[in-house]
Amino acid sequence: AQHFLARAQAHQNLGAYVAVNPDITLAQARAQDAAIAAGTAGPLAGVPIAHKDIFVTKDFPSTAGSKMLAGYQSPFDATVVTKLADAGAVTLGKLNCDEFAMGSANENSAVAPVGFDAPAPVRNPWATDRIPGGSSGGSAVAVAARLAPAVTGTDTGGSIRQPASFCGITGIKPTYGRASRYGMIAFASSLDQAGPMARSAEDCALLLSAMCGPDPDRDSTSLDVPAENFSAKLNDSIDGLRIGIPAEFFGEGLAPDVRAAVDGALKEYEKLGAKLVPISLPRTQLSIPVYYIIAPAEASSNLSRFDGVKFGHRAKDYTDLVDMYKKTRAEGFGDEVKRRIMIGAYVLSHGYYDAYYLQAQKIRRMIADDFQNAFKECDVIAGPVAPTVAWKLGDHGNDPLADYLADIFTLPGSLAGLPGMSVPAGFGEGGLPVGLQLLGNYFQEARLLNAAHRLQ
Ligand code: GLN
Repeated sequence: AQHFLARAQAHQNLGAYVAVNPDITLAQARAQDAAIAAGTAGPLAGVPIAHKDIFVTKDFPSTAGSKMLAGYQSPFDATVVTKLADAGAVTLGKLNCDEFAMGSANENSAVAPVGFDAPAPVRNPWATDRIPGGSSGGSAVAVAARLAPAVTGTDTGGSIRQPASFCGITGIKPTYGRASRYGMIAFASSLDQAGPMARSAEDCALLLSAMCGPDPDRDSTSLDVPAENFSAKLNDSIDGLRIGIPAEFFGEGLAPDVRAAVDGALKEYEKLGAKLVPISLPRTQLSIPVYYIIAPAEASSNLSRFDGVKFGHRAKDYTDLVDMYKKTRAEGFGDEVKRRIMIGAYVLSHGYYDAYYLQAQKIRRMIADDFQNAFKECDVIAGPVAPTVAWKLGDHGNDPLADYLADIFTLPGSLAGLPGMSVPAGFGEGGLPVGLQLLGNYFQEARLLNAAHRLQ
C-alpha cells in the first residue's frame, strides 16, 4: 500500500486519483496484516485497490466526477466496495471519471484531481497528450501507470472496456445483474454494471470472484446467481473454441492500425487451436441511436434526485423552492450531463415516447436476439473495442457526437446485457495500445477470462 501511495503521489500529473487518505489506507493494511497473522485472511488480504469515484465509500468522499457531489461523504459503502473489503482488499483512494460516468474520454470530469486546485485532464500514461478513454479513465490510468495493482470500474456502454483498451490493460464487465449496483451512483440503471480492471485476466478473475453475487435486498436487478471462482478455468485449453467474427465490427470506420493489431491477436488464437467463424450482428449501427436514447432517458430520471434538498450541492441565493431547484441544477451539472437530461426528458415526454423511447426499446430487444442467433454458431465473439487508438486531449472539442460514434463496438453488448472484456491485443499508431474485445453469452465470464488468459 505504501508503495502504491508513493507512486500515486509521484505521478499526480496524470490526474488519476481524486481522493487519497494514507492514514485510512495504512490502517486498513495493518488490519489485514493482523488478519494474516491470525489466520483469518480473505483471498485478497492486503491487496491494495482503488475505486472509481462512482462507488460510494464511507471512508473517502464520493463525487461521481460532479460538482453536484463535491465533498459528499456517504454514510455507507457500495456493496461491491464492501465485498472487496470483506475479501481483504485495502483501499488506496478514489479514481477520476467522467461526470456521472457520461463520456468516452474522461474529459467530462468536474473534479480536481489530487494535487490540483481545479479540474484537470486525466492523461494517458502511454502518451500524456492523449485521453485515457472513459468513463473509467482514472481507473485505467491507475493500473497502466502502476498507481494501483487493480481497480474497480463501471461499464454502461463501454466504460470499462474502452479505457482498458486505450491504456493497454485488462478489464471485464460481467453479465448485467451479476454485481450489485447498490451504492453505484446511477447513470442508466438497466445498463450500469461494475467490474474489475487490472494488468491481467488472472488478476481480474480474482477481483471479479469477490465482487459478484446476489444482493436481493438492495438491488432488485441483482441476479440470484452465486459468486463463482472465476480463476478455476483460466488455464483450460481453448482448442476448438469457436470465435465469432462479426462482419459489422470490421467495416469502413475501423482504423487500419487497430485492425492490424486485432487481426494479430486473432491469428494467435488460431495458433492456440481456436476456430474463427464469420458471423453477423446486423444491427450494430443502430446501437448508437438506441443507446443514446435509452441511456439519457434513464439518466434524466436517475438524476432528478439531485435537487439540492437532501444531499449534494445547493445554490446559495434563490427566491423560492423552484428557483432553488433550477439554480442548484444549473450550477451543479456540467454540459454533457445537462445535454443528456434534456435528451432524456424529451424522448420520454408525451407525444415523443412512442416515436423514440419505445422504438429504441424494441430495437434493443432485436439487438439482444441478434446475439443469441450468433451464439448458435460460436462460443465467444471477438473484435475491436474502439475504432481508433486513444485520441489527443481536446481533439473531439465541442463535438459530443464524435465521442458517441466511437462507442459503436461496445454498445451492442451493453444493450444486450452480455459480459464483455478488453484484452491487450498489440499496438497501433504511435505505439499506442489496442485492445481486443471479447463478448460472451450470459454468465460466460469464466470462458472469457480463460480465452483472455490464454492470449496473455
Ligand atoms: N461513452 C458512453 C457514454 O458516454 C459509455 C459510458 C459508460 O459506459 N459509463 O454514455
